[in-house]
Amino acid sequence: MHIDILTLFPEMFEGVLNNSILKKAQDRNLFSYDFINFRDYSANKHQKVDDYPYGGGAGMVLTPQPLFDAVEAVKEQRKTTPRVILLCPQGETYTQGKAVELSEEDHLIFLCGHYEGYDERIREHVVTDEISIGDYVLTGGELGAMVVIDSVVRLLPEALGNKRSAPEDSFSNGLLEHPHYTRPADFRGMKVPDTLLSGDHARIEEWRHQQSLYRTWQRRPDLLKEKDLTDKEKSWIEKWENNG
Ligand code: SAM
Repeated sequence: MHIDILTLFPEMFEGVLNNSILKKAQDRNLFSYDFINFRDYSANKHQKVDDYPYGGGAGMVLTPQPLFDAVEAVKEQRKTTPRVILLCPQGETYTQGKAVELSEEDHLIFLCGHYEGYDERIREHVVTDEISIGDYVLTGGELGAMVVIDSVVRLLPEALGNKRSAPEDSFSNGLLEHPHYTRPADFRGMKVPDTLLSGDHARIEEWRHQQSLYRTWQRRPDLLKEKDLTDKEKSWIEKWENNG
């Protein structure tokens, strides 16, 4: 996968892209990235990329020309028709399902905004996906792009050391993940559940499945509305509901 990041602040990404799983993924040639400072594409003699909004109002708006030209140059250079992702608080709320979808692409372009927003023609004519990372307002799209890139790259085949990690993560099967315990089995009198120490793999799987469902039922019942529950899962939930 190749990722092009259109940003005015490329240095913001260095720590995130060059550590941990993302660093290892680059070392293994699973993904590469380039920064494009779209100021370099500005036709303005002072290399301005923003201007006052028509009709007045607070803040500055990113002008269309530098972003249109930068995206066109990247597509031309790579000869691809990539997904062009605009980070934006008004976009669709980001989910693990979207991360899986994006992880199947070969080339992604991220547009990181700043200031008050974008000229609407950028959304209408350049962008294929608008993503919000939550119902709050950030200063710029860089943090959002880093969140999306991290969650996508860890899904690339071989990115994680353990192949089972990603499919078992929260949201992958529509549920939150079960609780974890590690050594010691007894810490200050707080004991690890007996089932996990039993060595009985079928029992452990069943316990984890039940805990995962319980946790989701308690914390994120909204997720269960979207999931096709088995008869067994329905009977567990019925029991918890009856127990108050
Ligand atoms: N005036 C805009 C609005 O009310 O929708 C907010 C602009 S915000 C200060 C500047 C930039 O930060 C946005 O253009 C976008 O790139 C990014 N941004 C802010 N909040 C975000 C969010 N929740 N998810 C993704 N990007 C966000």
